[in-house]
Amino acid sequence: MSVLKMTCIVCPRGCSLEVDPEAGTVVGNSCKRGFEHGLAEATNPVRTLTSTVRVVDDNGETIGMEPVRTSQPIPKRLVFDAMREVDALRVKLPIHRGDALIPNILDTGVDLIATKDLV
Ligand code: SF4
Repeated sequence: MSVLKMTCIVCPRGCSLEVDPEAGTVVGNSCKRGFEHGLAEATNPVRTLTSTVRVVDDNGETIGMEPVRTSQPIPKRLVFDAMREVDALRVKLPIHRGDALIPNILDTGVDLIATKDLV
């Protein structure tokens, strides 16, 4: 595998990184966090998914939106599939912050959780 070029997004400094995943080397980082971020991005990039889901009444009518996020980052390659599940989801009141609205989304071991009380 060749050297990958990327910008470190861990802090606003935005160091330009050159990562060789096979050699396990990172060049251009100014700190250890950049080294870890660069290697993770090159080998198993992950993202925390944030979105909203529809809140419906007993008739299926939309009465609001609930902000949600994954309880931990999930593999980046699964984000679009996870968004499809989020888009299809309908939830009813009451909803409490931290409720697992989709437990173990896409068998990742990570839950999609509510981030706001809505009662
Ligand atoms: S390498 Fe360190 S200093 Fe540079 S952007 Fe990443 S976190 Fe910030």
